Amino acid sequence: MCAASRHEDHRAAELESLAAQIRVCTRCDLAQGRKQAVPGDGNPRALIMFVGEAPGAKEDEMGRPFVGASGKFLDSMLADIGLRRDDVFIGNMNRCRPPGNRDPSPAEINACHPWMEAQLRIIQPKVVCTLGRFAMNALIDPALQISKAHGIPVEKDGILYIPLYHPAAALYQQTLRDTLIADMRTTKAILQERGFWHP
Ligand code: URA
Repeated sequence: MCAASRHEDHRAAELESLAAQIRVCTRCDLAQGRKQAVPGDGNPRALIMFVGEAPGAKEDEMGRPFVGASGKFLDSMLADIGLRRDDVFIGNMNRCRPPGNRDPSPAEINACHPWMEAQLRIIQPKVVCTLGRFAMNALIDPALQISKAHGIPVEKDGILYIPLYHPAAALYQQTLRDTLIADMRTTKAILQERGFWHP
């Protein structure tokens, strides 16, 4: 076994053990209403990670992130720039569905944050694309406004963060949709420029 695949096995096993802990997590009240937690999934060695807000009904049922309507849109945007789900890692700030898809509270986001820190430590992505304002404010800067910050990379703790609109918001507003598609293409150009493009 070569050094690279040993490393990959190590990350995959660590991520799986983390996912097992997340599935039984009771750090906040969202645990009570969930069908199942959604740890996140994808390539354990991904250079690029996408982080959304919280699971919706379909994700809660399937235990996988972005498998509903916004997930289909995300998949189509990934395909548009030449990526498959297996090339990236997809997760959420909150791993349990808020009732009625309400916004997660600051306490719920904080309670779930250690799981994000652990996933970042294991995967070591070069680029993290935040999807929507919750992930952007929690991971990059609480003061950022998505209407101004989208598509503009921010370097922090050795990771290049790129704030993007949430696919769900963009699904229903044509102008946001065009902006998000354009920002995804800019993201690809940034990755290529920095030598992080190895799909
Ligand atoms: N919206 C999110 O933010 N995450 C999902 O996994 C699905 C929809």
